[in-house]
Amino acid sequence: MRKLAAGNWKMNGLKADGTALAKEVVARAAGAPLSCDILICPPATLLDRVAAILAGSAVALGAQNCHTQQKGAHTGEIGAAMLKDLGCSYVILGHSERRAEQGESDALVRAKALAARAAGLVPIVCVGETLTERDGGKTLDVLARQLQGSIPEGLAGGELVIAYEPVWAIGTGRTPTTAQVAEVHAHIRKGLAGQVRDAAAARILYGGSVKPSNAKELMSVPDVNGALIGGASLIAADFWSIAEACS
Ligand code: PEP
Repeated sequence: MRKLAAGNWKMNGLKADGTALAKEVVARAAGAPLSCDILICPPATLLDRVAAILAGSAVALGAQNCHTQQKGAHTGEIGAAMLKDLGCSYVILGHSERRAEQGESDALVRAKALAARAAGLVPIVCVGETLTERDGGKTLDVLARQLQGSIPEGLAGGELVIAYEPVWAIGTGRTPTTAQVAEVHAHIRKGLAGQVRDAAAARILYGGSVKPSNAKELMSVPDVNGALIGGASLIAADFWSIAEACS
C-alpha cells in the first residue's frame, strides 16, 4: 500500500515561517518525486496561504480539527465544509492533545469524523495509550475501545486513516519497540475488519517521536502505512527525510 507521510504542525507557524516551510516542502516534492503520499497540516490560520503554495504540487493539505456541524452558531469553530472549501483533503481528529486539553471523547471524535466524511475529507483518527495504560498491560483494550467509539459505521477502509500515537511517545523522543508497534498495528487492522468495509485498504500511521534516524525502521514494520510527524515536520529537511523513508 502507498504510504502517507503526514506533518502535523500543531500550533506552530506565523505567516513568514509557515509559508517558507510550505515552500520548501513543495520545492523538495518537485525536485524528487516520492512514491508515497505527502500531507502537511498547518494551523487553521495558515491553511489558505499554504493552499495557494501547494496548488499544483504533489503535497496535500490537511487541518488539525473540525466541528461536528458544517456551519451555524458555533462561535470560534470551523466546519469541515469550510476546510474542504480551502483546499483541505484530510483532517486530523482526536489527537491526544485535544483529547487531554479539550476533553474530546471517542463519541465526539466519531461525530467529527462523520462531519469530515460528509464534507468529503478523509479523517485521520488518532488513538493511543498513556504510559500508565501501557504499564498496566491495558494497551490493546484501550485501543479497541477508542477504535470502537471513534470510528463511524459504514465507512470503507480507503475513506479513513488511523494514526496510532502512544501518548508517552509524543514529543518525548521515546518510541515503542518495533515489536510493540507491530503488535498494535496488527491489533488495529484486526479490529477495523469488524468496523469498516475493506479494512485492508485503511492506512494505519505510526506517530510519536518519528525522526530521520528511526523512520526507516518504524516504516518497515508490517501494517505501518506511513507516519504522523509532529516536531520533525517543522524542519523541512527532517520531514523530507522521513517522507523518503515512507517511499
Ligand atoms: C504528534 O503529535 O502527532 C506527533 C507525532 O508528535 P511528535 O512527532 O513531535 O512526537
